[in-house]
Amino acid sequence: MIANETPVLANSLWTATAQSQPEYAPLYGSTEAEVAIIGAGVTGLSAALHLAERGIDTVVLEAATPGWGASGRNGGQLNPGLKYDPDAVTAHFGEEMGARMLRLSGGAPDLAMDLIARHRIACDAVQSGWIQPAHDAGSLRVLEARAEQWARHGVSLRMLDRETVARMIGTDVYTGGLLDPRGANLHPLNYTLGLARAAQATGARIYGGTRAVSLNKTDSYQTIATTNGSVRARRVLLCTNAETDALCPPLARTVVPVRSVQVATAPLPDEILDSILPGRQAASDSRRVMVYYKRDGAGRFLIGGRGDYNDTTTAKLQENLRRISRKMFPQLGDVPFTHAWGGHVAMTADHLPHLSRHGEGVMSATGFNGRGLALGTAIGKLLADWASGTPEAELDFPVTPARPIPFHFLRKPAVRAAVVLFRLRDSLGI
Ligand SMILES: Cc1cc2nc3c(=O)[nH]c(=O)nc-3n(C[C@H](O)[C@H](O)[C@H](O)COP(=O)(O)OP(=O)(O)OC[C@H]3O[C@@H](n4cnc5c(N)ncnc54)[C@H](O)[C@@H]3O)c2cc1C
Repeated sequence: MIANETPVLANSLWTATAQSQPEYAPLYGSTEAEVAIIGAGVTGLSAALHLAERGIDTVVLEAATPGWGASGRNGGQLNPGLKYDPDAVTAHFGEEMGARMLRLSGGAPDLAMDLIARHRIACDAVQSGWIQPAHDAGSLRVLEARAEQWARHGVSLRMLDRETVARMIGTDVYTGGLLDPRGANLHPLNYTLGLARAAQATGARIYGGTRAVSLNKTDSYQTIATTNGSVRARRVLLCTNAETDALCPPLARTVVPVRSVQVATAPLPDEILDSILPGRQAASDSRRVMVYYKRDGAGRFLIGGRGDYNDTTTAKLQENLRRISRKMFPQLGDVPFTHAWGGHVAMTADHLPHLSRHGEGVMSATGFNGRGLALGTAIGKLLADWASGTPEAELDFPVTPARPIPFHFLRKPAVRAAVVLFRLRDSLGI
């Protein structure tokens, strides 16, 4: 069970199957560091690990425990790229910056796999590819355009016909699909805990149960007051994503936290196992209100989708995922679903993550829009580059001002309305 979480989000497969972890004790009293990182998810921990590898004195402050946020709860898919296709990225950010962003995001699963290998992180990681199946001719055309655009950036994706998708996924509901060989999947909590262990072993100091409550600049230092102490650091990295609180206004108003949920079966019996994702690819359905699914290392089937702010409706959406699974994969028969959990994804107005500076010496990276497992790892490395002296203009992602979303207080009704509209458009195929 996830500690200090509402029951409908707490029964996590990942906490049930997590490796034992060392105690990350709270910070009591004052300390100093070159860099202080707030938030111990993949973004903060990747930053910490890369800084520690360069011998830079680094402290990580985590309000709960490493992996408590989305990093320890997600669907485990290391997906390459951003939400937008390459042409849209280069049109918006320019050829040069666009190409750098595509390299960073496209290479993010490789970076994570490299960290896993170098630090021997046991997290059931397989780089078997990412399937994006299509429901209709329209979504197939979108996938063809995606493959053609990535090809111009030297990345070879493979279009799949109806029969191949049916064989690779184990359902006949799709008309075709796209295989991206860069994609990988893993046990996200064990990956996050592995990053924490590696960062600590390399020299970073990680404090659990330590919320950063205020941030003040004094001389060339930032002073962070925490629940039971304080940290003085030259640079501060805010890696709090959907869990962003009032620490550094207006950061919390730049993201909309939206619940995302998962359900998982018991390990599938041998006679079913080879008929569902036998190659252990992960898949995300191309509809607007997306479902995504994979198998874990023990042969369980997991599927995820959008939740709701209300617990009763969230439980219904989890039930909906079980129903969809049995419909798409009738071979599941009466295999029981044993786990149901969820967390928050941080949505932004433009569906892109944002790197923003808050005065001298403070940088945030938030707004991963449900796609931060690989990308957060890559952006964490980039934050480490900035904190160790790389100028902003040389980073492979633009640094933009933190712009609050207009009418942020209306976020809950707005999210509900958008989901209803997208469901309607999906069902009408428009
Ligand atoms: C159910 C679900 C499924 C998902 N599936 C996928 C997927 O398959 N693939 C994918 O790429 N992405 C997925 N995502 C999104 C992905 O998990 C996130 O984008 C990513 O984990 C963000 O990592 P992070 O380190 O930036 O933030 P988090 O992991 O959320 O970490 C932020 C941490 O900051 C801490 N914190 C906040 N405020 C403070 C403070 N003041 N002081 C100290 N600590 C603080 C929090 O306690 C938290 O631990 C999913 C998310 C969910 C919820």
